[in-house]
Amino acid sequence: MCQNCQQQQGFLAELIDSGLLIDTGIDGLYGRSGLFEEVVARFDDLITRYGGQDGAEVARFPPAMNRKHFERSGYLKSFPQLAGTVHAFEGDERAHAELLHNVSDGLDWTAGQKSTDIVLTPAACYVLYPVVAKRGPVGKGGALFDLQSYCFRHEPSKDPARMQLFRMREYVRFGTPDQVTEFRATWLERGQAMMASLGMPLHIDVANDPFFGRAGRMLANNQRDQRLKFELLIPIESVEKPTACLSFNYHQDHFGTTWGIKTEDGETAHTACVGFGMERVALALFKHHGFDVQTWPAAVRDVLWP
Ligand code: ATP
Ligand code: ZN
Ligand code: MG
Repeated sequence: MCQNCQQQQGFLAELIDSGLLIDTGIDGLYGRSGLFEEVVARFDDLITRYGGQDGAEVARFPPAMNRKHFERSGYLKSFPQLAGTVHAFEGDERAHAELLHNVSDGLDWTAGQKSTDIVLTPAACYVLYPVVAKRGPVGKGGALFDLQSYCFRHEPSKDPARMQLFRMREYVRFGTPDQVTEFRATWLERGQAMMASLGMPLHIDVANDPFFGRAGRMLANNQRDQRLKFELLIPIESVEKPTACLSFNYHQDHFGTTWGIKTEDGETAHTACVGFGMERVALALFKHHGFDVQTWPAAVRDVLWP
């Protein structure tokens, strides 16, 4: 098990040497091998085996969202340091010539790029709230969605479990406070049972999001005090600082208020989501059971390849 920084770099190097991850020259931006993707797909199926019976509406979006929706979501207030925006060239031929000059001279050519209507998705559920709001009040039983998206976060790192582009599967629940907190409690239990079946050490802990700045520290403390976020942690890079592989988030009426989402009786809807880090779980499996899936414990293989 990796326990210090020297060895931490070791795991990333091993993953690249083995071909499981493909280096692009950028920290946190990797290609993945067929075997890595096979494990991700098997885990994706396992999630559906646990959550599929709830009748969630499946929706898949490209890894980007409407910039206006992003602005209204409040993400820039809380996490400006993580956001990624899409810019594009809109100039004339003279501007093009200047751009090419700057590229060949090694100068900053991006200053002339103009923002587009698109930003990168920071968490799978962010695209969903305006969509649900537009449909009108959620019905008596509330609403439940099944999402998966690549997500972008500008947090380059040598830790292979902290990528800049990674996939997040999510179930997202809308409804009354009771409906939503029951959903989260169910998934806290289910998530532990599901991950325990994969034969890895894990524990649950209360957590906070990396809110920006001094005001952010208060938000983070409040999130912890109110136990709004839990994480299921598995050691990947280090034993002392295990990695959040699943997270269980209760947003109270935050998104309901932001987007004007109502329940049937006219109250502001509450929301919660459970997020599964697809690459992190795959990395945890390779870390704990080795790079050769043929030699993984039979019980784990039976769970993933039923
Ligand atoms: P961390 O505390 O490690 O930064 P997080 O609390 O920010 O993670 P969430 O915002 O709850 O993570 O995202 C949901 C899930 O997405 C996490 O439980 C994790 O499995 C995964 N995830 C988050 N950030 C990354 C990343 N940079 N690379 C890979 N997976 C990630
Ligand atoms: Zn979410
Ligand atoms: Mg994070």
